[in-house]
Amino acid sequence: MANLKQYNMYINGEWSPPSNGKYFESYNPATEEPWCQVADGQSEDIDRAVNAAYQAFQNPEWAGLTSTQRGHLLRKVGDLLSDNVEELARYETRDNGKLFREMKGQLSYMPQFFYYYAGLADKIHGDTLPIDKQDMFVFTNREPLGVVAAITPWNSPLYLTFLKLAPALIAGNTIVIKPSEYTSASILEFMRIIEKAGFPPGVINVVTGFGLTAGSPLTSHRLVSRTAFTGGVESARKIVRNSAENLSALSLELGGKSPNIIFDDANLHNAVKGVIAGIFGATGQSCVAGSRLFVHQDIYDSFVEKLVARVKEIKVGDPMNEESEMGPVATAAQLETIESYVSLATEEGARLITGGKRLGNSGTGWYYEPTIFEHINTSDRVMQEEIFGPVLSIISFESEEEVIQKANDSNYGLAAGIWTKDLGRAHRLVKKIQAGIVWVNTYRSISPMAPIGGSKLSGYGREGGIEAVYEYTQSKTVWINTSEESMEDPFKIR
Ligand code: NAD
Repeated sequence: MANLKQYNMYINGEWSPPSNGKYFESYNPATEEPWCQVADGQSEDIDRAVNAAYQAFQNPEWAGLTSTQRGHLLRKVGDLLSDNVEELARYETRDNGKLFREMKGQLSYMPQFFYYYAGLADKIHGDTLPIDKQDMFVFTNREPLGVVAAITPWNSPLYLTFLKLAPALIAGNTIVIKPSEYTSASILEFMRIIEKAGFPPGVINVVTGFGLTAGSPLTSHRLVSRTAFTGGVESARKIVRNSAENLSALSLELGGKSPNIIFDDANLHNAVKGVIAGIFGATGQSCVAGSRLFVHQDIYDSFVEKLVARVKEIKVGDPMNEESEMGPVATAAQLETIESYVSLATEEGARLITGGKRLGNSGTGWYYEPTIFEHINTSDRVMQEEIFGPVLSIISFESEEEVIQKANDSNYGLAAGIWTKDLGRAHRLVKKIQAGIVWVNTYRSISPMAPIGGSKLSGYGREGGIEAVYEYTQSKTVWINTSEESMEDPFKIR
């Protein structure tokens, strides 16, 4: 199609057209119009990118840098990012339909992630071991792994890339990034910006394309040492199978069906805001979406009334408009998924409290009403499966034990919200709720210092915080015999 912006891949410090000469279109969810063309990367392109990253890993221009020097480079990235937040946020909104003010807010916080990891760069070290053998001096070094493959979804393309990029680089790895086929533009625009930071060629590469034709050859490539994946469970299963080829280390940040629990002593004004942030923020397209709401029976009616009144006022509209509170969902397929779960909820006997319809018609954007269902059974599929849209399921509870059991009745274990003024109760729940992140009297808070990750079908491994750096390094154990005595029996373990 004429006049569409065309993106090539970024391999070995150069803009590379796809080997098959093919491009695919990326759509603006607010208009349903294609707005750019993205290189349809194939295994040949992926192979080139991984080889470039492998060469760069050994190149003294990168491998010879001190950790302090790598920290300086990351600080520059943070500065360059700060100067270009608005421009990058505009690309993200055009690709995924999330509110411009949300993407701008998220990206303006992102330099802090680079500064945090820049500061950590020269504070990651091994140990001297108090070894139980005379004459032996034993220590560990922490070393980079090699080439990291980073695979990201469409909901927060740059944020979820930076969570991988920053700790991978300070540890001395090199990286090949494959963004979602729906949102490839912002990371490619970001590469244009950070070319000024001065990384040697091949240290950061971006390949584009689809899961099976680009993601799969990347995650099974023999020179990849670690894959950091954020996305859905089905893709994760394929990636785990791919990792049987190269035996690469994996971190899997997957979906969720997170509980938000409101006790009768909670600050209800804040709890209403927290519930809305949890499920209608980002149009529900958030891994940590608080899509299951548990409300204590003594406040059930009044709380639901307050919540529904505010939800009915949510301004759904053009994501570029600063007044809008909810934009469209990211893809036509996502809209269909939401529609089918809404029909299923009704079939399962849930009661529709508000919403339940597409807004507008075909051709006017993929908008959907904020939707709330009341359920009786936590076993309903709509209460068990991730919808990834603005659909909230509510259920009441009577006691602490009951809500713990109901909240944990899920295949996922990513996040949870607890709203109460009772500190003892908050701590009891924190211990018993099966989730990698628990927010008490808040929801969707993030920080570079705080790890993110889950258990069960929400995946494994952690991103963020100091823990992430350990995931991008491995220890090397060094034994030095300080004795000059002649060695005895070679068949005896020393
Ligand atoms: P997805 O799994 O369809 O795609 C994610 C990425 O994986 C894309 O880049 C895709 O091309 C790639 N991919 C797909 N199949 C692949 C394969 N066989 N090999 C290698 N790569 C492959 O997910 P999505 O629809 O883009 O994103 C939504 C999902 O992401 C939701 O489940 C959501 O909960 C999850 N998510 C999790 C987090 C978190 O931090 N835990 C954050 C955001 C989103």
